[in-house]
Amino acid sequence: MGKTILCACEDVTLSEVRRAFARGHRDLESVKRYTGFGTGPCQGKSCLAAVVQELLRLGATPAEINPFTPRPPAQPVDFGTLAGIDPDTLPLDEGVPVPPTPRPPVPASSGPVPERASVVIVGGGILGLSLAHQLALRGVTDVLVLERSYLNAGASGRNGGGVRAQWSTPTMVRLGLRSLQLFRSFAGETGVNVWFRRGGYLFLAPDGAQVERLERNHAVQRQQGMRTRIVSPDEACTIVPELDRSRFVAASWNPDDGVVFPWPFLWGYAAAAQARGVTVRTFTPVSGIEVSGGLVRSVLTPHGRVRCDTLVNACGAWSPEVARLAGVALPNRPTRHEILVSGPLKPWLGPLVSNLGNGLYFSQSQRGEIVGGMGDPTEPAGISHGSTLRFLSRFSRAITELVPGTAGVPVMRQWAGNYDVTPDNNPILGPAGPANFFQLSGFVGHGFMMAPAVTEIVADALTGRARDEILDRFSLDRFERGPAVREDFIIG
Ligand SMILES: Cc1cc2nc3c(=O)[nH]c(=O)nc-3n(C[C@H](O)[C@H](O)[C@H](O)COP(=O)(O)OP(=O)(O)OC[C@H]3O[C@@H](n4cnc5c(N)ncnc54)[C@H](O)[C@@H]3O)c2cc1C
Repeated sequence: MGKTILCACEDVTLSEVRRAFARGHRDLESVKRYTGFGTGPCQGKSCLAAVVQELLRLGATPAEINPFTPRPPAQPVDFGTLAGIDPDTLPLDEGVPVPPTPRPPVPASSGPVPERASVVIVGGGILGLSLAHQLALRGVTDVLVLERSYLNAGASGRNGGGVRAQWSTPTMVRLGLRSLQLFRSFAGETGVNVWFRRGGYLFLAPDGAQVERLERNHAVQRQQGMRTRIVSPDEACTIVPELDRSRFVAASWNPDDGVVFPWPFLWGYAAAAQARGVTVRTFTPVSGIEVSGGLVRSVLTPHGRVRCDTLVNACGAWSPEVARLAGVALPNRPTRHEILVSGPLKPWLGPLVSNLGNGLYFSQSQRGEIVGGMGDPTEPAGISHGSTLRFLSRFSRAITELVPGTAGVPVMRQWAGNYDVTPDNNPILGPAGPANFFQLSGFVGHGFMMAPAVTEIVADALTGRARDEILDRFSLDRFERGPAVREDFIIG
């Protein structure tokens, strides 16, 4: 009976759904992520009803089975067909509208909210949860993480999983290298498989200006001891033989970068922090912040007020709206970034490949799918999780130009998240406004790979152990101190 298949596309059984529920994944979105049901070609059309029925039987509330939004393509369509559609004929604002917040009715909080906590972290993305974990490792366990939705609802559950140290400044290289080290040891330390794969990153330069950019970065990276090399198109094609070598003139190759599967990191950090005494509450939004005498005194939630000594704003693209609750203005602007996944292929692609000319990037997941995205310079600012045909067509044109062999590969699913963009593409760290209101936001398209290293530094600062220079470099008042140094190696 437990072996009954509920999701035929992804081989998800009844007992897997039951196990997910027993482990606290009660709402439909979380069960989908934990089991993989509904992520195959039919996108839940044939299994949704059966999973919902089982969750209700297990005790889920109607609010917890709020169905997820189906997105195009309604059935798999190959890159070649999609590349035949002219993106400029498609409206910019077209897209499946998906509300950024849980649709009412909203599931109940995952547990009671305490009256006080030493540190309250708003936002249960990678930054908030890894900070909770780092604080717990330092013996600070009176920590409460408040997440408005399910874990993985924000950008941390919607990204490409690329983790690299190929950056353009010594600071970013240092942070990237440290994060890679921590990513590598994560599974061993937490017992959670995150499918870390060290396949390298291959950046392709289509013209002389991009080659100069790679060479400048290369010099910085070599000084930091990295193995990065500038390689010719011929050598790049020994790494990825399917590339059309006429599309680029040089490439930058670091074999030590990699790709991870993002979702288990959040569950792993949450579980590790909770095992040490941290409290994590999902479906618990912060709706107000009480300030007096220049300090945050408490946060308000629908389930009560929580007094705190320190408040951390780790809300990613929503950080400005949470900062505003305490009268703090952040310059961050959310911007939608779309991404897709293909049907599974035999292993053919080692590294994550990125074309600096048009922002295309893609890698192959452990399940064999191509996972890739591409920024759209015409994308207006604002929170949006909508999916567009325009993106499918732009991406398909770019990938079939660079890798002609992908023309027949079917696109399985697409989705979107939001980059949390700052004026200089660097994060905002440290107190702003009330002295105990700590900002941990503005990670643009690289917050996942920066989170382990940055939260280690932030945890050291919050516990008075050490103060890293990035806390001054990336403080909010840098924008008043003069022109900030812009990070220019943003992908997508
Ligand atoms: C499509 C895409 C691809 C990307 N690719 C990569 C990549 O390859 N590598 C990489 O390193 N980075 C990548 N990124 C960027 C990366 O995902 C983000 O920088 C990172 O996940 C940000 O983490 P976060 O914790 O700051 O924010 P989030 O993960 O967005 O978490 C913020 C959380 O705050 C919650 N929240 C909001 N308001 C409230 C409130 N009032 N009360 C309580 N909770 C609230 C939200 O529900 C959300 O869960 C990508 C991003 C996107 C969108």
